[in-house]
Amino acid sequence: MRNRFNYRATVVLRIQEVAPNSLGAELGLQAGTELLSVNGRPLEDFLDWEFLTADDAFLLHARLPGGDELEYDIERPEGLPLGVTLEPPRIRRCANHCDFCFVDGNPTGMRQALYIRDDDYRLSFRYGNFATLTNLKPWDEARIVEYRLSPLYVSVHATDPVVRRWLLRNPEAPEIVPQLRRFGDQGIRFHAQVVLIPGVNDGAQLERTLRDLYGLGPIVVSVSVVPVALTEFSKHRLVRSPRADECRAALAAVDQWATHAVAERGHPWCFGADDLYLLAEVPLPLAEWYGDFEQRENGVGAVRYLQTRIAAARAGLADWNGKKIAVTTGTAMAALMPQVVPGLAAATGADFEIVAVENSVFGPSVTTAGLLPGEAIVRALATRRDVDLALLPAESVNDDLRFIDDMEAHALAARLPMDVRFSYDFVDAL
Ligand code: SF4
Repeated sequence: MRNRFNYRATVVLRIQEVAPNSLGAELGLQAGTELLSVNGRPLEDFLDWEFLTADDAFLLHARLPGGDELEYDIERPEGLPLGVTLEPPRIRRCANHCDFCFVDGNPTGMRQALYIRDDDYRLSFRYGNFATLTNLKPWDEARIVEYRLSPLYVSVHATDPVVRRWLLRNPEAPEIVPQLRRFGDQGIRFHAQVVLIPGVNDGAQLERTLRDLYGLGPIVVSVSVVPVALTEFSKHRLVRSPRADECRAALAAVDQWATHAVAERGHPWCFGADDLYLLAEVPLPLAEWYGDFEQRENGVGAVRYLQTRIAAARAGLADWNGKKIAVTTGTAMAALMPQVVPGLAAATGADFEIVAVENSVFGPSVTTAGLLPGEAIVRALATRRDVDLALLPAESVNDDLRFIDDMEAHALAARLPMDVRFSYDFVDAL
């Protein structure tokens, strides 16, 4: 019988590494082995591999690097991992052409990976990346439901199909509300975001979007409204950053739905990103407002989350009395740091200084810490012999410890006169 998986493009799933003394090594699996099927089901990617090998007994069909094809009848003690690391997945390319796309905002001459427009529901499930769901094939939809890939993080931007297609520059984009409902009816849940583009999806459109998403009930677990982030290289003819009054208007809509949700559902449901409050010059809500901080990776409640983490870890922090610590960050977070640093100083005894670093690659309008170039950090700290320790944002380097300008972390540390530590939340470094 031909099933839906027969329609998928053939993709080779290969082993990158096998841990020594692991079950995989015992079976003779090795780097370069192609994993062909499990229990007769062809494998496309890490999701198939993880879900289909979740049982303690399964039949694996593989091709060794020498070309031999073998079947392994695997039975393993409960919970024992195979010890197999897969080659990185081929990222799903985006089908959209948003005017505000961060890829268009890159200067030329950067590493190739930064020019890839990814829009990948698998990374949405695994890492909380936002996806638009505009490039899903029928077998992707089937897989999302079969593997229960929930919650997913979805970029909605607008629920009016005309406005959304215009924003995404994709006339083929499916209508998002019926799409979410279809998934929701099969048990999939979503965290949604609206990137706020003044004059396009704010005002009445934002009202409609929040109303439509609220109307989906438990299918949409949370919604964030995030101001668009543009660089010097973005398409400024076509899109601009929101002004303070526009951010305040968006926050008023957020507040209205959040108040409604608290009364009806007991939690706010709808949140403004920290940046939106900053641009609106409005104080952030208290930590309790954010509940489980479900969208903190999206800059929603990040400051309050830090404060909460510091307060909870206070007793376990080291004594840094008499030391000077530089908190190195982008200009957006630097503006919010005065709300965090006094708690840190009280907990550690150190003298903290916030070092706001301007982005020398993308221009000063890019204020996020995650995109800071190594060279700009070096320039800010190279002469600071009065500083004992510099804390750098951990999200500013990739898995290979390289900054956006390709500077390697150890090379950066070698050029600075103080100790350097990467940190997500201060608690991990102090
Ligand atoms: S959805 Fe838009 S912003 Fe995201 S990668 Fe695609 S074109 Fe760029």
